[in-house]
Amino acid sequence: MAAIDGLPPLRDVIARYGLNAKKTLGQNFLLDLNLTQKIARAAGNLDGAVILEVGPGPGGLTRALLACGARKVIAVERDARCMPALQEIAGHYPQRLQIVEGDALEVDFAALAAGDTIKIVANLPYNIGTPLLVSWLLTEPWPPYFASLTLMFQKEVAQRIVARPGTSAYGRLSVLAGWRMEAELVFDVPRQAFTPPPKVTSSVVHLTPRETPLACAASSLAKVTQAAFGQRRKMLRQSLKALGGEGLLVGAGIDPQRRAETLSVEEFCRLAQAVY
Ligand code: SAM
Repeated sequence: MAAIDGLPPLRDVIARYGLNAKKTLGQNFLLDLNLTQKIARAAGNLDGAVILEVGPGPGGLTRALLACGARKVIAVERDARCMPALQEIAGHYPQRLQIVEGDALEVDFAALAAGDTIKIVANLPYNIGTPLLVSWLLTEPWPPYFASLTLMFQKEVAQRIVARPGTSAYGRLSVLAGWRMEAELVFDVPRQAFTPPPKVTSSVVHLTPRETPLACAASSLAKVTQAAFGQRRKMLRQSLKALGGEGLLVGAGIDPQRRAETLSVEEFCRLAQAVY
């Protein structure tokens, strides 16, 4: 494997610090620095960029981000066992790696960005990937504090993020992502690339914020999509009953007999505008 930075191979780092993968933390590590560089490059030109990384683990992606020219990486990791490995990287790249030990679901990312426009890049732990993405999609104010999200998910989740109306993958995530972002599935990563291998294929998704998404309140869109897709096989007049049912739908110019997966993002926004 080509050395990208003169630091020891990740396999040695993991052995030296006893970083046996913990399932409860969604730990599936990438040890191939060529692959982590490919993920880093999916985030676009990193020269001078400030990156926020969730879950650096032993630092395979972190090292790729720094080697690809990031001015600074802010890395939020929950597992205290990973700190010495990350400190070693910080020593190799003085002033360029800020390590934050904490839970990504509780950290204030906007405050960490401290006014810099950041790119968020992560090989996300599978158990918190969706709630994290939803929190980024519902960020206020908009345009947000991040310039892009480049994230690894289980392939099935990635397909839901980029899905179009009328497909079985189309759901709440597709509407929230389609509303505020341009989303692209960039490439798949096979199970064997990870240590240990997860059960399914993964995919990298790249999302960039739309400057001016259709006007509607994020909280209303979250509410409407939750109700509509919570009972996706039912007609909307039934699934949206508690939010206004038939009256709400007719007022928004939508046939109450339709089902959630047939509505475009624009139609969901009309419903969100009408609901209060
Ligand atoms: N970035 C590394 C790589 O690509 O090899 C590790 C990716 S692994 C899929 C997910 C990482 O997220 C693990 O290091 C895990 O400890 C960390 N993690 C899990 N839950 C977390 C949380 N709530 N907050 C921050 N990090 C978390």
